[in-house]
Amino acid sequence: MLYESTRDKNSRLTSMDAIKQGISKEGGLFVPEAFPRLGTEDLSDLAAGDYTMRARHILKLFLSDYKEEDIDRCIEAAYVNGAFPPGVAPVVSLCPGLDVLELWHGPTCAFKDMALQLLPHLMTTAIRATGEQKEIVILTATSGDTGKAALEGFRDVEGTRIIVFYPVHGVSSMQRLQMITQKGRNTKVIAVEGNFDDAQSGVKSIFGSDLDDRLDKAGYRLSSANSINWGRLVPQIVYYFSAYLDLINQGRIKKWQTVNVVVPTGNFGNILAAYYAKRMGLPLGRLICASNRNNVLTDFISTGVYDINRIFYKTTSPSMDILISSNLERLLYELSERDTDFVSGLMRELKERGRYKVDGQLLNRLNDLFWGSYADEGQTRATIKDTFEKYGYTLDPHTAVGKFVYDQYRLQTGDTTETILVSTASPFKFPAEVLKALGYEGDVPDEAACLEDLSRVTGVPVPAPLESLSHSEVLHKDVCSREGMKQALLSYLKL
Ligand SMILES: *Cc1c(COP(=O)(O)O)cnc(C)c1O
Repeated sequence: MLYESTRDKNSRLTSMDAIKQGISKEGGLFVPEAFPRLGTEDLSDLAAGDYTMRARHILKLFLSDYKEEDIDRCIEAAYVNGAFPPGVAPVVSLCPGLDVLELWHGPTCAFKDMALQLLPHLMTTAIRATGEQKEIVILTATSGDTGKAALEGFRDVEGTRIIVFYPVHGVSSMQRLQMITQKGRNTKVIAVEGNFDDAQSGVKSIFGSDLDDRLDKAGYRLSSANSINWGRLVPQIVYYFSAYLDLINQGRIKKWQTVNVVVPTGNFGNILAAYYAKRMGLPLGRLICASNRNNVLTDFISTGVYDINRIFYKTTSPSMDILISSNLERLLYELSERDTDFVSGLMRELKERGRYKVDGQLLNRLNDLFWGSYADEGQTRATIKDTFEKYGYTLDPHTAVGKFVYDQYRLQTGDTTETILVSTASPFKFPAEVLKALGYEGDVPDEAACLEDLSRVTGVPVPAPLESLSHSEVLHKDVCSREGMKQALLSYLKL
């Protein structure tokens, strides 16, 4: 299986090169040249296996230049010897017609772990197989969840180092605590005086600078664990297959019956993986795209106009506070029948005018596949409370956005098809907000202090990785200015 760029007809790469490189030179994203199809016989075979068996099968279809035993080893390291419990991503029934796919049983309690526990192993395997001798230095700017998940994923992975820059005032206190207590002999966390944009543009300017030569001579090579890397998307296809097959095994659905999915969406990676699974023959129906107040995708799906000239809101579902959903480019590529000129044109318009429009057949295709809506802050809060009172199940704010949008979908379309609600974070990652939604007002001096309260109220134990946080030693205290990021990197590498 080879990979091509969404903006360049002539690009053709192996999966190892696509994963090593991350993004194509002209700015396009790597996509598989075709989607393997799984028939009902394949699905029956996969239904008999566990999560890792399903992952091995699907990854081997896409990563055909990797040795099979290497893929087995990567999956073992990520999902068996790593921090996931058996079952990896369980599906639990919430109410008639709706099942919750819990993607937050990894080490950081958010769904980014599903991909970021595996990516470091895929990347180091690719690097070694292609004869790269250098130590890989992963640079990441984070607004919260990605940084911690990348740190955990790369922690103590041979031949790599990871450096995360986070904005001093741009992350929640839980997220900060998670990062500054990070263990691992190859991890480094640095606070940047500024907001997320400052940290992000600082990292970008390091990538674009004249450092390459100097790092090269010292035996380092810079790379990124950004969410547009194909190595972060492919692990996400697996859990849609796995959840569907679990529902069959549990007798919740009949064999090969159609199921809808609803996905709390930000950068469009998670829901795109659902679309890819559908293309591969998984019987998925409507892909329901749930946004928070930053509802640029809701508008796009209903009107065909993608327009980022609007107010950016900070919400209680921060991982969905995004206006430019990068992975949408990969969908546009498929919906335009892989027209690189068309996609390049739209992305140019987005960059220059912050807006583009699609219509006609492409918009029809989009609407056949997707349905979109959003929840505001009050609706999100009410959904957390209502779901807890009705079903005794606690949703985090991101998943609550998904649940609200699902209710809207059912109401407006009358479609009662069995639906998988993709749950992207543990409620314990946002304890103060969830407690407030459940009706426990009061001063919250310190988010970590809310963990016990939330546990008492919900009867759910605090997840182990979060429980130990408040007694963990602070290991990372460095702070730098925006201009000082490059120097901070160099000092860490002793250059
Ligand atoms: C990253 C994230 C999302 C958004 O996922 P995308 O793949 O970017 O659409 C939703 N919820 C949580 C908790 C996340 O961390």
